[in-house]
Amino acid sequence: MRQFHGVCRGCGREFISAKKDQRYCSQECVRRDTPRRMREYRETHKEGAENLKPREITQTTVYLVHKYAAEGMPAGVIAQTLDRCMDDVGKALAQPITRGQAEAIREYFVRYRPRKDK
Ligand SMILES: [Zn+2]
Repeated sequence: MRQFHGVCRGCGREFISAKKDQRYCSQECVRRDTPRRMREYRETHKEGAENLKPREITQTTVYLVHKYAAEGMPAGVIAQTLDRCMDDVGKALAQPITRGQAEAIREYFVRYRPRKDK
C-alpha cells in the first residue's frame, strides 16, 4: 500500500496515511477541529454558499460526502470542503454507496476506532 506523509491540521503532529488528502491524524482531531472549521465556514461563506449552483453528483461525490459524514463532519463543512451547495450534499447523502465504498470508509477508520472488547 502506498503511504503518504501528512501534518495534522488539528494537533500539528505528523502522520502516515494511506490517503493522500488526509488532513487529520485521527478521528478525534477531526472532531476537535470541527468548531474551528465551522467558524471559518461561516466567516468565508456568509453569502458564498448560496451562490453555488448545483452540480452533477458523481459517484466520487457520493463517496466523499458519506466518508466525511462518517468522520463526523457537519453538512456545512462538507459543502465547503467539496465546494458544493448544501442541496448537493443532501442529494449525495440520500444516495446509497456501493459495498466497496462502504468497506473503504470502514477501513479508512479502522485503526482509529476505539477498541471494543465485546
Ligand atoms: Zn491530530
